[in-house]
Amino acid sequence: MKYYSLNDNKNTASFSEAVIRGLAPDRGLYFPQSTPRLDESFLTEIANKSMVEIGVEVMRTFVGGTIPDARLEKIVTDTLCFDFPLIKINNNTATLELFHGPSMAFKDVGARFMARCIGYFNEQNCKKVTVLVATSGDTGGAVASGFLGIGGTEVIILYPKGKVSQIQELQLTTNGNNIKAVEVDGVFDDCQEMVKSAFIDDDLKVKLNLTSANSINVARWLPQSLYFFFAYQQFQHMRINKNLAISVPSGNFGNICAGVVAKKLGLPISHLIASTNINDTVPRYLQTQDYQPNPSKQTISNAMDVGNPSNFIRIQSLYRNDFNALKQEFSSYAYNDMETKLALGELHHKHNYIADPHGAVGYLGLQDFLAKNPDHYGVFLETAHPIKFRDIVEDTLGTTLKIPTQIQQILNKIPEKTSLSGYNAFKDYLLSQAV
Ligand SMILES: *Cc1c(COP(=O)(O)O)cnc(C)c1O
Repeated sequence: MKYYSLNDNKNTASFSEAVIRGLAPDRGLYFPQSTPRLDESFLTEIANKSMVEIGVEVMRTFVGGTIPDARLEKIVTDTLCFDFPLIKINNNTATLELFHGPSMAFKDVGARFMARCIGYFNEQNCKKVTVLVATSGDTGGAVASGFLGIGGTEVIILYPKGKVSQIQELQLTTNGNNIKAVEVDGVFDDCQEMVKSAFIDDDLKVKLNLTSANSINVARWLPQSLYFFFAYQQFQHMRINKNLAISVPSGNFGNICAGVVAKKLGLPISHLIASTNINDTVPRYLQTQDYQPNPSKQTISNAMDVGNPSNFIRIQSLYRNDFNALKQEFSSYAYNDMETKLALGELHHKHNYIADPHGAVGYLGLQDFLAKNPDHYGVFLETAHPIKFRDIVEDTLGTTLKIPTQIQQILNKIPEKTSLSGYNAFKDYLLSQAV
């Protein structure tokens, strides 16, 4: 399996090159050259396979010989160290909970897999890899816990001062070991600019081996396709004779794009639904066939506040840019904050389920699809634990949430961080890390 740049299909790389580089040298996203159908016997026997067996079989396709089988099995085992339960909501709907990992958001699987791949690829190299990541919240926590203790790596997380929740800040600043947190006087975009400047800074290139843990990296993006296999596997255990539709709360469209990949690999999902908040560039595109990105707007499902989703181009490629083919298997609907809060209430009062605002958006998209397609069974992905959006959930539902052990463990730890402002201060900080 080779990867090519979506800017120029002659620009190819192996899996390991694509992972280490992140973006192609021409700034394009890497994309697999093919998505070959998995072995038919594997597909018919998924119900009887373990999570690790599924993980190895699927990821073997993508690592394309750059990681030996025994090591891949270890990487997958370490990555999938928690559950992904399918919880029944009513007689035609269930939710797949993706938040049982260390940072309690679905980005844990991609971050853990990427960290272990980089750890492996860098084993023969005596120079450590410095991983830079800018975060507005969830990504940083997943990357921090994913890379914690991975030999040969050091992670530097930049976050905007005062703009992440208290729990999120503790997740970034209490890891120690090879994880460093930098609090930036500014907004998320300033953090992202500092990371971008560091990558093109020649002084840093000589001293440091820099890479990025951005969500466009193939090692963070592709393992997310496993969620769709886990959903299908548990759906099979329910012995319901209906077509399966899966709704994905979407922001940058990485997770749902991994769902399209799963479908191309042969997983029998009949329809995918990208549910968004008012950042509705893709829902509008599917109505008008005119792609018009907007600046992002703030919502209560803030991990999806993306005006120009970078992974949508990957979805279009998977459908060979055929708009009608895409529309047959893929829908997208948008909801505002008021609708999201009503859905949180409905899930709680009617179905005794406490969702987070992102999951609630996924539920809304699924309900709209099922109303028009009653011959389907629907699963929506629950992408974060409600505790991560504690204030909104507690205020909307008038309840108090229990604090899970992952969060309990960090509440009494002392945060460690470096505070700085401006690129020059960041550069000095990076150079001081190089010695
Ligand atoms: C990142 C995130 C999303 C959006 O995922 P994309 O792959 O960017 O579409 C949804 N929900 C939560 C909780 C997230 O952290």
